[in-house]
Amino acid sequence: MLATTPSRITASLIQDGPAHRADLARKLSVSRTAVTNAVDLLLDSGLVVTLRRSAEGAVLKDRVCLSPQFGLIGTVIVDFTETIIGIGTLDGRLLASRVLPADPQARGEERLRRAATVVRELIEESGDGGELVHTQLAVNTQADRRTGEVLGGIASASWSGTNPKVLLEEDLGCPVRLENTVRLLALAEQLERPEVSDLVYVQLSYGVAMGLVVDGRILGGSRRGAGELGHTSIDLEGRPCSCAGRGCLMQYVGRSALIADIEAVLGAGTDVPDLFSAVQEGHAGSVELLGTYGRRIGEALVAVCNLLEPTTLVIGGMLSPAGEPFLDAVRRALTDRALPLAVDDLRVENATGSRRSATVLDAGLLCLRQDASVRATVISRSLDTFRTRRFPQVS
Ligand SMILES: [Zn+2]
Repeated sequence: MLATTPSRITASLIQDGPAHRADLARKLSVSRTAVTNAVDLLLDSGLVVTLRRSAEGAVLKDRVCLSPQFGLIGTVIVDFTETIIGIGTLDGRLLASRVLPADPQARGEERLRRAATVVRELIEESGDGGELVHTQLAVNTQADRRTGEVLGGIASASWSGTNPKVLLEEDLGCPVRLENTVRLLALAEQLERPEVSDLVYVQLSYGVAMGLVVDGRILGGSRRGAGELGHTSIDLEGRPCSCAGRGCLMQYVGRSALIADIEAVLGAGTDVPDLFSAVQEGHAGSVELLGTYGRRIGEALVAVCNLLEPTTLVIGGMLSPAGEPFLDAVRRALTDRALPLAVDDLRVENATGSRRSATVLDAGLLCLRQDASVRATVISRSLDTFRTRRFPQVS
């Protein structure tokens, strides 16, 4: 009985985060006394702590939290421009983080080795004595979540010959769960909008990547291959693509296409910021170009909206600084082409830039905590520690 209630309490704290004793009793359908007794035992063992959340003018009761002694989780998010690294507790409290700017020439292996060193430094600096039990890694390439194998062409060049999952597992000495960076950013954008449970995130860069969040969870496919919008053909006889297909969206709205189109309108050597300035000054050719890109992206998303009917479409990346004129063109294309039921209530918004805040780290920790197999493993491991501490004579 005692072993059951502590394990159910810890499972609930991992899944839903810190909670008051009364909330735990309600959620687990057990008496308040049973929860208090179990929490007291867990407090004695050092696996949980109680913390008071400060709130202006309000006296709040202590919330039950998992301590670093229960185990630490790490998250490493690799993007084109930076590597974001954090450590936290299993109930999702971020303890420490660091951002490393990325050298564009650096290989994936080099970046992961530096990230692993930073994870160890953060654990040491936090001084809590917790042990790293699992890490969530997100990489900016197509990689098989199960094996860690990197697949794909030119975009994956910096990862060739490297298995990011295996490398980090060996370096950190703990299991690593693999995710795609854009899918993780989609979850971060959803966390920025607590009122929304499903969302489509599109990131415009060298390619066009997409992340889907349904019911607050990433919908990424069994191997994490779902969301490669950039390789959806918009013209079966069109421009050749690095994927060996033809007419892929990225060949029409990716960075190379955009720069070529901007130079055709504004002259050689011009870039994306020049387009934004020209649009603000009302330059007709630039306004038209921005509208064309918005329409192409909106049209490419018609099928996505007809299939999923998301409440929110979030656009991030190189064209999002253009703001409303660009978003309007996306909206118009969707309204013109998609079915009314799929898009009538759709919100089309700019990304919040969640990667610059702690939200992306929260999303990294949340991915791990949402994984039922991760929860089962860490609970069983930590409750062994609990039993050893509580009943040392038994072990
Ligand atoms: Zn392609």
